[in-house]
Amino acid sequence: MPKAQETVLEIDLDALAHNYRHLRNKIAPDTKFLAVVKAFAYGSDAAQISLKLETIGVDYFAVAYVKEGVALREAGITKPILVLHPQPANFNTLIERCLEPSIYAPRILHLFLEAAKQLEQKKYPVHLKFNTGLNRLGFWENDVDYIVEQLNGRDELKVQAVFSHLAASDDLNEAAFTQTQISTFQKITTALNSKLGYRPFQHLLNTSGILNYPTTQFDMVRSGIGLYGFGNEATYDKELKPVASLKTIISQIHRIEPGESVGYNRAFRATGHRLIATLPIGHADGIGRQYGNGSSYVFVNGQKALIIGNVCMDMIMIDISGIECREGDEVVIFGNTASAEDFAATANTISYELLTGISQRVKRVFIGN
Ligand SMILES: *Cc1c(COP(=O)(O)O)cnc(C)c1O
Repeated sequence: MPKAQETVLEIDLDALAHNYRHLRNKIAPDTKFLAVVKAFAYGSDAAQISLKLETIGVDYFAVAYVKEGVALREAGITKPILVLHPQPANFNTLIERCLEPSIYAPRILHLFLEAAKQLEQKKYPVHLKFNTGLNRLGFWENDVDYIVEQLNGRDELKVQAVFSHLAASDDLNEAAFTQTQISTFQKITTALNSKLGYRPFQHLLNTSGILNYPTTQFDMVRSGIGLYGFGNEATYDKELKPVASLKTIISQIHRIEPGESVGYNRAFRATGHRLIATLPIGHADGIGRQYGNGSSYVFVNGQKALIIGNVCMDMIMIDISGIECREGDEVVIFGNTASAEDFAATANTISYELLTGISQRVKRVFIGN
């Protein structure tokens, strides 16, 4: 692997394929696999990731917003794309680009019916989203009659699928709660199917759902974080490979005398002789201020170096005292050996936030095929 010459997010397409196959093996052969590629495929680059996944057999994609779905169509993605949180302002674009909306509330159903009618759509595929306990987006169980009333006798829409989202699939202490969500979902789909007179397909599980509740995979599963190499638990992480590695280099090394300070507001004060290195990555690249002031560390030639002082917009400083290194050397912030989950944990956050926060000015480079 070539050493980084600047700050890069290295994306390993072989690791992605490995993770897909690993998760795919956890589900029945006729269960569809939806890849969640919202937020630039969790920071990795939605177009490249989706093209790779489409080639190796993913059945469906999901994004959060219409704009993200349009980007996938422009990249050449032809498989169905579910838009999880579409906004009515973009319904026309959604229909023009053949994206499938999540319809999650009476207001959204009403406005989408209008848009579909105006554009003279027949049987346009939609996914009905039900709230079963996350209390974020979704119809309630007792909305079933209302929905069927709105749809019966009109032919603009077809309910392609019915879905819900688990609140705590990664937390086995909440297994009883998760079971309630599962049975509520089953009750809803049974009622809806009989009233609609046909059977839309059903999907419920995210990555941790696939790993912890494999018997309730229904017709399709939706995986995001697992594809990128994280299973929200050490035993699952071991079988997955991190797709993204964040690497940078040492721009400059300074020798600091006792009593001298480093960075804005003199937040780091040296008690002894220190050797510090400045790196070309900062909070504008996605390394938030919470990683600074000794909270987190990076790897210089395999050794841990603390991030000291305040994180700047474009730079961080690290303490390299006692570490063999030179200006221009590669620094690993997270990757294969240094997990993004561990790095995120040092700042009290999770891999999801860290990965999706790596800003677009960080160059993405692809390895593997
Ligand atoms: C983001 C999201 C997912 C993916 O969850 P992971 O934990 O990353 O697998 C699945 N379903 C919905 C509704 C989501 O919003």
